[in-house]
Amino acid sequence: MLIFSCTKKIQQKLPKEETKEKEEPAIPEGPVLPPFTGKLEIKVVFNGNPTSADALIPSLKYNKSKAILMEFDDAALTVVTAYEKLSKTFYTDGCGNNKNYSLGLAVNGKNQYNGKEMGLYTGYAATYGQRLPLILKGMDIMNHSYYHEETGNFNNGKDREKNIKDLDALILEKQGYKINTLIVPSNYTGFQTAAADFGYIGGGSQGTFDKFTQIGKYSPKAKLNDIKPFNYLAIRRAFTDDWSSGGAQWELSNDLLSGNSFDFFEIGTHGIKDEEAVRGFNDWIDNIALKSKDNLIFCSLREFLEYAYIKDHVTKTQLVSANTLVITLDYSTVLNKNISWYDLSLIVKSDKSIASVSINNPDFSLAYNKDTKLINVNRRKIKW
Ligand SMILES: [Zn+2]
Repeated sequence: MLIFSCTKKIQQKLPKEETKEKEEPAIPEGPVLPPFTGKLEIKVVFNGNPTSADALIPSLKYNKSKAILMEFDDAALTVVTAYEKLSKTFYTDGCGNNKNYSLGLAVNGKNQYNGKEMGLYTGYAATYGQRLPLILKGMDIMNHSYYHEETGNFNNGKDREKNIKDLDALILEKQGYKINTLIVPSNYTGFQTAAADFGYIGGGSQGTFDKFTQIGKYSPKAKLNDIKPFNYLAIRRAFTDDWSSGGAQWELSNDLLSGNSFDFFEIGTHGIKDEEAVRGFNDWIDNIALKSKDNLIFCSLREFLEYAYIKDHVTKTQLVSANTLVITLDYSTVLNKNISWYDLSLIVKSDKSIASVSINNPDFSLAYNKDTKLINVNRRKIKW
């Protein structure tokens, strides 16, 4: 059976009339910081003068070798439940810091049956207020079209551009958040093209890629080597609403973690609808954390793509002088893609051990591991 990227079912039951609750904040506190387009200087001091010193940017953040990318579709309310698990499940950054598992939430603007704004639709979707603390825990918001369908009581017909643009504007206004990735609604053609034209970095679907050559040609089992420098990347994803041990997610994660035939996969879901599904989801997450042996990142499509994009477009220069290697990362060659994760990792190759590392920009956090010579610089923008 062909399962489309995400097919919206008619709502089964309407939530009971809500008692007016206190409005939660929907936008992060503090000022809007500009995008980073400057130079980040990393100074590595060695124990003695090296005969050689070089810094390489690994394919995956934190020099991991595998990745699982995930999203909940249709602004699924159960993303809140999922984060109860994800926020307590970690991989490390290779430098002693825990990073919690995270994923994306693909949202619509308004419900096509009753016209209700999804971000205010209490008891049905994850509201703006519910999303904010999850964004702070690493969640991304993804474009899933203003209206999910071409038809219905409320719709934009076949106007992909309007659906992309209007949802982007709504989330910017109500959540202070700039979207950068797409999840194709149903199997509608034209969304990947519209998202690319709008400047997004990439999009996922089970089978709809328009003119783009998708990563994961025939299956969601994908290799990092297939990702060449890109402006927009379309990715084939898997999909599951079966959280039992028979769900598609198990074969994917088991194969990913037991061999080397592929490096990553992306998977979507409508959520975890009951206690049994929650148990199944939690078991799956626990199993990944156990089997991955801290060699995997579990994150949103955007976090994954932005690392790859920055890696390919940042201008790295290096200078060795006496016992010091200065690495300059010039972000001005990273064309504005409304980057959220400015993170980069570096692996230093040298015959001398590292004494200390410092950076010249306090907006980035720095972590390093003297034994593995891994250096991480991190900065996330969550308010526009
Ligand atoms: Zn959907």
